Amino acid sequence: MTDTRPIQVDIAIVGGGLVGSSLACALAPLAERQGWQVAIIEAMPLSRSGERSYQPSFDERSSAIALGSRLHFERIGIWEAMAEHASPIRHIHISERGRLGSTHMHAQDVHAEALGYVIPNAWMGQALMARLDTLPLQRFCPAQVISAEPLPEGYRLALDSGQMIDARLMVLADGGRSPIKSLLGISDQVHDYHEHALIANVEISRPHQGIAYERFDSAGPMALLPLEGQRMGLVWTRAPDELAALLVMSDREFLAALQGTFGERVGRFRKVGSRHHYPLSKRQACEQIRPHLAILGNAAHSLHPVAGQGFNLALRGVMDLCAALENQALRGEPLGSMAALSDFEHRRSQDRLQVAEGSHLLVSLFGIDNMPLSHLRSLGLATLDKVGPLRRALMRRAMGVVR
Ligand SMILES: Cc1cc2nc3c(=O)[nH]c(=O)nc-3n(C[C@H](O)[C@H](O)[C@H](O)COP(=O)(O)OP(=O)(O)OC[C@H]3O[C@@H](n4cnc5c(N)ncnc54)[C@H](O)[C@@H]3O)c2cc1C
Repeated sequence: MTDTRPIQVDIAIVGGGLVGSSLACALAPLAERQGWQVAIIEAMPLSRSGERSYQPSFDERSSAIALGSRLHFERIGIWEAMAEHASPIRHIHISERGRLGSTHMHAQDVHAEALGYVIPNAWMGQALMARLDTLPLQRFCPAQVISAEPLPEGYRLALDSGQMIDARLMVLADGGRSPIKSLLGISDQVHDYHEHALIANVEISRPHQGIAYERFDSAGPMALLPLEGQRMGLVWTRAPDELAALLVMSDREFLAALQGTFGERVGRFRKVGSRHHYPLSKRQACEQIRPHLAILGNAAHSLHPVAGQGFNLALRGVMDLCAALENQALRGEPLGSMAALSDFEHRRSQDRLQVAEGSHLLVSLFGIDNMPLSHLRSLGLATLDKVGPLRRALMRRAMGVVR
């Protein structure tokens, strides 16, 4: 007869994407000290080297990882692996299409080796999976959580395999669509941009020299991020009809359209990989915590990718949750009690608001096609380029080294 009793754990992480896996790695030392059992449940088969299984986090995208996130990865013990395919961002060039004003940021201005790094999501996934393999975790994968029911001292999770898990703390890291959050009646505040981000890797004819480009255009921003070799990661924001046209183009037509929009700053665009697209919205869960429940990553908030801050913000959430749980353990309070979770939410709310509204403001400001405003923006970029202290302060914030 099969045993149908619930499996007892202390912490259950729902979702093993970038954020859930990072949390599992970050929690490991504390869990070991406290003797906590941690389970991670992921719906998609985990990709390992050589395997090609699609998992939302670990797709063709590359992410700009701020210096602050590198420091977190070092603390978690996975930076060495991540660094194998991390391309440093040594300079950032911000401009507006058709206008003269631009801003240049340089790592040497803030005495740093790099302003950040660009890492393929698939590689981050592999580094995280390799680390998870070494940890004493209970991994349920592929397994989907189909319901979560509050208990007096935790949550009971039902998996599609028929297994049940009782956890004293449930962490939802199940992404932007988070079905479990909906089942619990937690809604989102949503601003739909009615735009999509088209992403693709492109090969260029000149070395990129570690320069990341952010080009604003009233039709939507475009970013080019330095990758290994003479390749760059393109993130091109477009309205649905323009996106549809870009998706059906042949590679040659697409490269010509990109060249026409971006110009010759990186030489010729020579090749393009597969194109993917993501609908864009600003989204925030109306409740971020409940007794015995914390929400992280895209399930808690998603942003416009213009400033490349979504995962960086989420990783700060991961570290803050670990810190709050550590304090809770030191105070001898039960795991998942509201005191620690409120402490966590108190740390998060300001950062979340600033980053989400900052990204939103950038998109809104540059999305208005209006002559006086366009002059002002150009002047703003030119002024920022001249005023060193202001530029450096902005750089430190974007690097995630001040809060
Ligand atoms: C175009 C684009 C570019 C971006 N660029 C950057 C950047 O440069 N820098 C940056 O910091 N951020 C960037 N971001 C944001 C970043 O990608 C996200 O913040 C990050 O992927 C969020 O990861 P996540 O783990 O929260 O969610 P997800 O990646 O969605 O992972 C959720 C996981 O949960 C699993 N799951 C879902 N439901 C269940 C269930 N019921 N049971 C079990 N498992 C479940 C899913 O299979 C999935 O693996 C970008 C985003 C976009 C769209």
